[in-house]
Amino acid sequence: MHFLEKLLRDQELWLMRRVRDYALEREYTRYTSTLEEAWRVSISGLTDSIICALAISDDPWELGPDDDYANDPMAEFGKYEARMHRLRGITLEMFLGLMKYYRQSYLDLVKRSFPSQPEADSTKDPARYARFIERVFDRIEIAFCAEWTRSEAVSNAIDELQVANRQMTNEKNRFLTIFESLPSAVFVLDDKGIIIHMNHAGARLIDPSATSGGHYYSHPDDQILFPWFEDELSRFRMTGEGGVFEFQLLLAQGGHRQVKVRFREMQDISFKFPGTIVILEDITDLKRVEKGLIEAQSALRQQASHDPLTGLCNHGEILSILERQLSKSKRDGEAVSVIMADLDHFKRVNDTYGHLAGDEVLRQTAQRMRSVSRDYDYVGRFGGEEFLVVLRGCDKDSAVIFAERLRLCIGSKSMVLSEGTIPVTISLGVASGGGNEEHDADALVLAADKALYRAKRNGRNRVETATEELPVATP
Ligand code: GH3
Ligand code: MG
Ligand code: MG
Repeated sequence: MHFLEKLLRDQELWLMRRVRDYALEREYTRYTSTLEEAWRVSISGLTDSIICALAISDDPWELGPDDDYANDPMAEFGKYEARMHRLRGITLEMFLGLMKYYRQSYLDLVKRSFPSQPEADSTKDPARYARFIERVFDRIEIAFCAEWTRSEAVSNAIDELQVANRQMTNEKNRFLTIFESLPSAVFVLDDKGIIIHMNHAGARLIDPSATSGGHYYSHPDDQILFPWFEDELSRFRMTGEGGVFEFQLLLAQGGHRQVKVRFREMQDISFKFPGTIVILEDITDLKRVEKGLIEAQSALRQQASHDPLTGLCNHGEILSILERQLSKSKRDGEAVSVIMADLDHFKRVNDTYGHLAGDEVLRQTAQRMRSVSRDYDYVGRFGGEEFLVVLRGCDKDSAVIFAERLRLCIGSKSMVLSEGTIPVTISLGVASGGGNEEHDADALVLAADKALYRAKRNGRNRVETATEELPVATP
């Protein structure tokens, strides 16, 4: 690849910025495109013309009186641009003026890229390549002027402009329709927060009776102050931060909507249409579904880990709590105690008062046990009329005291049911572990169960404590 071709291809972005800056400085941007790609395409078209010339010869393409510009391949771009710009209502003077700055940008690039002293290798002489570029531009411009002033084109100018005008109006209508049809509310605000444009969804947030296109056709000069986010907008303009957030929008006509808010600056590299775009996406329904989902999830979690009759943790849950507490005690050295509790002669309650009364006794038992427990004691229903209590940071002596409290909270006062007043008692077995020893959950539960069995044997309605050493857990 010719080194000039490589330079022009590599430096496309530099050239684009350079000519954009010239255009800004000389105010051509009042009439030029706003978007980066339009500028890039114009640079790439000119570069193609230069490369087309290079491919034939890298000697400067001097001009001659009989040159045929109409069929000159490197002038194709000039001819095409002439047609396009004439249709857009650009004048010849304006176009040629801006072309001088395109030319200047290419010359600037050659000047900054080649050493100022010609090297021994004359093929890298900057003056020669500057001249090469000058001549290609001359040819493009001559072809451009020839195309522009072609007699039949000039005589058909009004017809041509009418066709172009209809096309442009349609193009404008198409983009206006896209803008109006966007489901999100879109506003463009000036730096004082006045609404420059808003689409239909946006207009309806402000006035529910707004029709599509209303702000464009009927009220283009209305000075409506955007009613929300003054502080957030000024922070975004100053720092570029805080451009996305969720918000509960209060509507002037009453009610509110949950919205996701996005701010963006206009992407106008010619800086002629400044402004901040605000997009409000209505997420009210989404949030409602999300909330329902979260509630359903937590209900499912509750169902999976709790006993429906008493509302206590179920067997699996209380065991995993015990396991967690034991592994925590491994780290902090605190004792963990468990109490296994079983209602006395509960079968008799069922037999005498019926199964429903039995259920109610279980419910009241759970309620009483919970009411005497601290927030960080865990009470679970281990099985039928058996309960397991896990006490963290609690040694054997404290656990026995607590077990006594549990015994009394059940046995000291009969339970009042619609079927009658029923005296109920409970037996309890206590075992402690954790601390500096490593114990596993099963061993602790088994020890408490044995103690409970002893409490039953020794007459019920009493507390017994595990006596034997717990086996130390094997890792
Ligand atoms: P002990 O003092 O030796 O523990 O005697 P007990 O009668 O309490 O023990 P047993 O194991 O003989 O009987 C327990 C009874 O608990 C049997 C069972 O029908 C009853 N039971 C288990 N789950 C429920 C329940 O959810 N509701 C009701 N109403 N009864 C239950
Ligand atoms: Mg029992
Ligand atoms: Mg039992």
